[in-house]
Amino acid sequence: MRTNGYGRLQVVAGPMFSGKSEELLRRVRRARLAGLEVVLVNHAWDERYGTGEVSSHTGLSLGSTSATDVPGLLAAVGDRAPDLLAVDEAQFFGPDVVPALEAVLRRGTTVVVAGLSVTFDGRPFEPLPTLMAIAEDVTRLTAVCGVCGADAVFHQRIRAGSGGDPLDGTAAHVGGTETYAARCRRHHEP
Ligand code: ADP
Ligand code: MG
Repeated sequence: MRTNGYGRLQVVAGPMFSGKSEELLRRVRRARLAGLEVVLVNHAWDERYGTGEVSSHTGLSLGSTSATDVPGLLAAVGDRAPDLLAVDEAQFFGPDVVPALEAVLRRGTTVVVAGLSVTFDGRPFEPLPTLMAIAEDVTRLTAVCGVCGADAVFHQRIRAGSGGDPLDGTAAHVGGTETYAARCRRHHEP
């Protein structure tokens, strides 16, 4: 493949429990094995396993920088051009993350972004749809429906959280199997 000096944008998208963090951590580990410089950032709202870590439901985790917003994300990179910038829970950074990541790509850094493609009530969750549209590479993951075992493209709340707008509330999108469950098209109840 010809290169043009810009980084490539890779997106890992799916509902909760689809293995997004697992896949992100796999790519980070491989890049580090190859001796590449990697910056790993998680959103500070993901405090399920304490701050400063990207964790998978399987228990894998790697130390990361926590950022509360897009300027914080850019500060984690600084004015360097690492080989890889890996970002988990990208949906929490909002639409402004798109131009910010484009600026990092222009430096030649490869960017891999993992995040929720849908809200728990089944709506597209920006910025993931936009990032998927402009990415060189998209990995779209599904979970396993907790009712029938079919491919699950959705997740839903099975226990009341702290409420709020499903499109932006933090408490509305952070949780584990006690709060959310993966659901296929047939069994998702928005
Ligand atoms: P994500 O970051 O997409 O929420 P994780 O990488 O944290 O996903 O976790 C994926 C892991 O979650 C799977 O490998 C599996 O062990 C576990 N898991 C628990 N419930 C489910 C489910 N309903 N469907 C698929 N995987 C599940
Ligand atoms: Mg995750």
